[in-house]
Amino acid sequence: MMRDLPQPSAQALVPFVSVAEMMAIIHRIGLEEALKDLTDRIEADFRRWPVFDKTPRVASHSEIGVIELMPTSDGQRYAFKYVNGHPGNTRAGLQTVTAFGVLSEVATGYPLMFAEMTMLTALRTAATSALATKTLAPKGAHVLALIGNGAQAEFQALALKAVCGIDTVRLFDTDRAATAKCAKNLAGRGLTIVECDSAEAACEGAHVITTCTADKKLATVLHDNMIGAGVHINAIGGDCPGKTELAPAILNRAATFVEYEPQTRIEGEIQQVGEDYKVQEIWQVLTGQAEGRKDAAQVTLFDGVGFAIEDFTALNWLHDQVQPGAAMLDVIADPDDPRDLFGMLMRAR
Ligand code: NAD
Repeated sequence: MMRDLPQPSAQALVPFVSVAEMMAIIHRIGLEEALKDLTDRIEADFRRWPVFDKTPRVASHSEIGVIELMPTSDGQRYAFKYVNGHPGNTRAGLQTVTAFGVLSEVATGYPLMFAEMTMLTALRTAATSALATKTLAPKGAHVLALIGNGAQAEFQALALKAVCGIDTVRLFDTDRAATAKCAKNLAGRGLTIVECDSAEAACEGAHVITTCTADKKLATVLHDNMIGAGVHINAIGGDCPGKTELAPAILNRAATFVEYEPQTRIEGEIQQVGEDYKVQEIWQVLTGQAEGRKDAAQVTLFDGVGFAIEDFTALNWLHDQVQPGAAMLDVIADPDDPRDLFGMLMRAR
């Protein structure tokens, strides 16, 4: 429910959720509760998909990474996220992905909240994988192979535990230190953790495979022979032109589901196949307009790149958690006479 927050149009002060506040909110709610809550909220917004403005995100590419803006609106609220993706950053002690964002009121155009979104992106990405897995994985799936054990990894594992009943996680990363970090962070959380020596070993016996690796190239993290009948794959690390994780042969076998097809054609695994390759958008499955998994033997693929509606949902969820007394930003010049901006400046001399 909406809290009794000061209205920006009245006070011109806008709540700001810092990284510290974001972490306090997650601990107050409980991480797995927050992931479940976000999964439900993303599902609810995906079910009303047609009301949203949709556009592929606006990307500025360089040799080593990308900076993107992700806007959308449901006619009542508007949101955008600024996010980067720089796979080489960790070598310099920086993160691959950082983000912040703004939620606004369409009626006035005034912002309702500014927020850190690095943590929030990890939550919403994990919640989106959980929603796809809940919708597409075979019945009784409980073993996850998690390939790429960096910043997103623990969130992915815990969302699939909380929402989909995953009880065993088989980890692999080309950097053993990342796997050790992930295993340590997931210890004592009710999961059986198995550290594996190769992606192939991690996939043995897995019902769900999530790839969240970072490398700015057409990588082959998963080969076709690693994918058994009935497996569900969440491929979330391939999210830029020239940055993919799966062998094309997997696409030829799988039924593929995406967030927003025009964006995924540019950024997802399906950039490796032609325009005639058929995909379904997840919201169509949720609303009964498209078929999901056909049978227990089918391989399903969620080609997740991250779409603006997930960030819109996450920002609205976060706005509901902001309490009176939150930090406020003075970012809207608000003269007493709205047409006397100049007078406001002169009075401040
Ligand atoms: P990160 O850099 O923290 O971790 C990536 C890990 O992948 C590293 O530990 C690295 O050693 C490992 N890795 C690289 N190549 C590998 C390979 N071939 N096999 C196994 N491991 C390999 O990055 P992160 O923040 O965890 O993000 C992971 C990926 O997810 C990035 O590519 C990022 O762009 C993407 N991402 C996608 C979404 C989405 O919505 N789809 C959201 C956030 C991040």
